Amino acid sequence: MDNCIFCKIINGEIPSDKVYEDEKVLAFKDINPIAPVHILVIPKKHYESIIDIQDNEMEIVAYIHKIINKIAHDMNFKEDGFRIVNNCGKNAGQEVKHIHYHIIGGKILKWA
Ligand code: 5GP
Ligand code: ZN
Repeated sequence: MDNCIFCKIINGEIPSDKVYEDEKVLAFKDINPIAPVHILVIPKKHYESIIDIQDNEMEIVAYIHKIINKIAHDMNFKEDGFRIVNNCGKNAGQEVKHIHYHIIGGKILKWA
């Protein structure tokens, strides 16, 4: 989609520090990390948020969680624990309108 930062990261127009990529998803380090581990996992297909994913395409959400599980194993933070965050829309402060799952960890996290 034109003018979407994350679509530009997917197509290589904007560089990123990739940690995982396959035909369906991309995972890369957040440019402004709030913790020692801060990775974003996105589908390669543009959806603004969970609200835009139709029932018949909802498997992508489980697939993203499967990749989060893999990254936690591969990067050795599964034992320590981590947080998965998906900001959806205005009240959650979603800044980038391409659905993304934050993986946040590497320290003890406070709630809200
Ligand atoms: P949101 O508030 O929409 O859930 O989070 C958007 C996240 O995207 C923020 O944590 C922000 O730091 C990150 N971000 C925004 N632009 C870029 C970029 O160009 N590259 C990377 N790697 N992260 C970005
Ligand atoms: Zn996009």
